[in-house]
Amino acid sequence: MPSVPVPFPGESLASWVDAIALHTEIPRKTLLRDYWGLPHGPAHFPHGMPDGLSDDDRERIAAATGVPTEDLAGMQLDRYTDQPIPALPYSHDDAWEAEARRHLNNILIIPQCSRWCPHCLKANGGRWLLRWRLAWSFACVEHQVFLCGHCPSCGDTQGHRGQPQARLRCPRIPSQRRSSSWKHRCGHPLTETTATPVTDPRLLEIQQSIHHSLGDGLRPAARSIRLLFYHPLTMHLIDRFQSPEMFHEADPALRTANNGSRNRRSSAYRSDVDPLVSASALYLADQLIASPDRASRANAFADLAHARWLREQERGVQYFGYMGDVPMEFPRSVRDVPPWVTEPLHAQGLLAERTPAVAPPLGFRVQ
Ligand SMILES: [Zn+2]
Ligand SMILES: [Zn+2]
Repeated sequence: MPSVPVPFPGESLASWVDAIALHTEIPRKTLLRDYWGLPHGPAHFPHGMPDGLSDDDRERIAAATGVPTEDLAGMQLDRYTDQPIPALPYSHDDAWEAEARRHLNNILIIPQCSRWCPHCLKANGGRWLLRWRLAWSFACVEHQVFLCGHCPSCGDTQGHRGQPQARLRCPRIPSQRRSSSWKHRCGHPLTETTATPVTDPRLLEIQQSIHHSLGDGLRPAARSIRLLFYHPLTMHLIDRFQSPEMFHEADPALRTANNGSRNRRSSAYRSDVDPLVSASALYLADQLIASPDRASRANAFADLAHARWLREQERGVQYFGYMGDVPMEFPRSVRDVPPWVTEPLHAQGLLAERTPAVAPPLGFRVQ
């Protein structure tokens, strides 16, 4: 087959296949089926692109393109879901580690969508990075901006399996249109999307630390946030109890995102794709888990959550969050939340139990 462009560092396999299709002018389907001998069809690649490849598939692609199989494996989401997460091997508890990995895998990957950094896309000519598909990737450390999640023109999310032309422009078709012709598509240049600068250096440290903890990127100089991986379910409590006042000291972008004003959003808006939603949760999680004064942070968190609950009660709101009544019962799946987070919430009457039903296996003891 013709020579192919080499994968860009960190590029997703789907993006690279699109880059080859564009470069060689061979349709992606033909490439997969006729040049690489991969069975092509809904059963094998449900979305038309190889998200999961067998070893045999990788061997075939490696033979055709000269790109080593290990490199191909590193370009797939399986690298996060099928292998140990580097931040986790210190637990000495296989069952707990398997559970934590399963949960992290469930919350780590954004289904069917990808965020993007417009500066990166512009610099690399439209190569989409694999880590932009991770829910805990909220910023580009290199360009020090929050990633983008939605097209500023049509408001829709961006796929990671777009047609080759779609790598630089929004490929969405307004719902009233049926034609897939490019003249009917949104076509907004994704490289020109305004990216919000990250002004809080701690957020960039968190992002770098997450990359490193997942096996990507250099070890950050700042303290580790490995505990964030030990206690991924802390995010669950944050989703439930967060309030705007918790962001008074945060990056201006997070303050704005959490100030309670309801911006008009398109019907295609998805909070799980919004990088500012992830950044907000991780900012609070870092304070509750990894901050040197985490105990006082946890107390402040509980006080603010309680104040919000009182406010909502006065307004006649029966409950807030998505989990139902206060005090909140721990869902069965929630067990690895540290006691210094749960105790103040319990003391404020927001949690029914002081600790999750299953004791954390990491040696934390209830006082
Ligand atoms: Zn970038
Ligand atoms: Zn658009």
